[in-house]
Amino acid sequence: MSDATEFHVDADLCTECGDCIKAMPKYFRKVEDEELAEVYSTELVDGDLPKLEKVMSECPGHAILWRK
Ligand code: SF4
Repeated sequence: MSDATEFHVDADLCTECGDCIKAMPKYFRKVEDEELAEVYSTELVDGDLPKLEKVMSECPGHAILWRK
């Protein structure tokens, strides 16, 4: 697994809108008992990258980031 496919939600930036969860429930879910989103799978399926990049660019908090 290459580092290029590692991504995460920065909890300080997430506005809890839920858009990423609605768009890509394969990768994002709600933190238990909170509205905050988290990434629970970074095993990016072939072909999902463009959609992920769209979700990243449309995230109101710019909270979905590649892991450095
Ligand atoms: S789209 Fe961004 S702001 Fe909205 S829940 Fe997901 S990470 Fe949080």
